[in-house]
Amino acid sequence: MEEVFLILLGLIIGSFLNVLIYRMPIGKSIVKPRSYCPKCKKPIKFYDNIPVISFIILRGKCRGCKAKISLQYPLVEIFTAFTFWISYSFYFSISPIYTLFTIMFLCIMVVLAIIDFKHMILPDELTIGGGVLFLIYSFFNPLITYKDAFISAFGSALVFTLLYFFYLKVRKIEGLGFGDVKMMILLGAFLGVNKLLIALLLASLSGVIIGFIFIIFKGKDLKTKLPFGTFLGLGAYVSVFWGDCVLRFIQSVLR
Ligand SMILES: [Zn+2]
Repeated sequence: MEEVFLILLGLIIGSFLNVLIYRMPIGKSIVKPRSYCPKCKKPIKFYDNIPVISFIILRGKCRGCKAKISLQYPLVEIFTAFTFWISYSFYFSISPIYTLFTIMFLCIMVVLAIIDFKHMILPDELTIGGGVLFLIYSFFNPLITYKDAFISAFGSALVFTLLYFFYLKVRKIEGLGFGDVKMMILLGAFLGVNKLLIALLLASLSGVIIGFIFIIFKGKDLKTKLPFGTFLGLGAYVSVFWGDCVLRFIQSVLR
């Protein structure tokens, strides 16, 4: 029963995340106006705005102008519901408040990952705003100490700042965006050193793999910019649940 409620709540929050993903990069208010079709600008009726179900009933098209609705909408809704459920199953027995913060953290990861993928930006409201929120929460976090949180947040931001200037000076390219630096504060504040390192490892690995696929199949060169925030979000998501497992595995291999 609780799980059904969680999944429904996840679908509704997922639909709100879609609004953030669409409106934040273009600087529009996230509360007003009500949802509207990006093409014909008509407001979407409440019965056409039910997560996943409306998409299926309308067969992925606007009721008014028949413009295609991106598959991103139902996918984000379903993935958010999954996020609610998996956070609950992993952490609810440890702490309901921690579960809530895990869900908030992962929702921010989903929004940042998709916005960076589509627009190559990471909005400050999420990176800095989230960073401040999770640094405050680190005093109450049952899994890591606040020292761990502050060291990993500002240590990694410092390393990324140095890397940023290194790329800029030596290779004359913006290898990293400054948004990535700010995102590190958020990641470090919630994950702590161990899980942050795993998140970085996973982000770099997936970045390298995707980078090579792009170079081989799409004829891009090594200077092609990749949305590193997308990979960071992915790495952080996996690390929240399986970071400790990956760390133990690496330690057992190295031993
Ligand atoms: Zn329309």
